[in-house]
Amino acid sequence: MESCDITKISYEEARKSWLCMGCCSPKPSIREVDVYLDALPENIPLNFVNGCGLGIAKKAFLLELGETEAQRDLYLGRVYDPDGNQLDEYVSYHSYPEIIVRGDQHANYHRCIECGRIRYFAMGRQYLYPFPSSKESSIYYKGNGGLVITIDLFQRLNLAQWCKLAVDPLPVLDEPLDGFGDFNADL
Ligand SMILES: [Zn+2]
Repeated sequence: MESCDITKISYEEARKSWLCMGCCSPKPSIREVDVYLDALPENIPLNFVNGCGLGIAKKAFLLELGETEAQRDLYLGRVYDPDGNQLDEYVSYHSYPEIIVRGDQHANYHRCIECGRIRYFAMGRQYLYPFPSSKESSIYYKGNGGLVITIDLFQRLNLAQWCKLAVDPLPVLDEPLDGFGDFNADL
């Protein structure tokens, strides 16, 4: 995943509308977000937008994962170049609430004082606890462009076709390793 930037004008508009300045992510009530990028994104499956909590995906990649699932589980917005031309090959994406990928070292969390979003940080072994509560979903957004997908969707991917796509298996544990409880109840 590589980073990209939205234009200064787009960022100023975001500050006044959809962007929470407390946690630099879309406000919880925000659905799809249209963005103007200051340069073409890297020609890779997933990019993220600096300081906005948004991802920029190749549309073809999401189609391979599953069009129905992507439309259902993510908020997909339009992407434009600085001159206002739509970049049809790309979409912006995010979702709320985000899935929290847990760790076992230096774990900590707080709520954003502006919007209430849980901000969780941890290092070490990565895992989920418990199994995501929304069992109807197949694609989960973990913030800053990161996705968690079910094994079913993973098996649809032709990984050889997608360069710079980092994929790691993520276990679901019966007990958390960070001393905290189930965040899903609070989301
Ligand atoms: Zn916030």
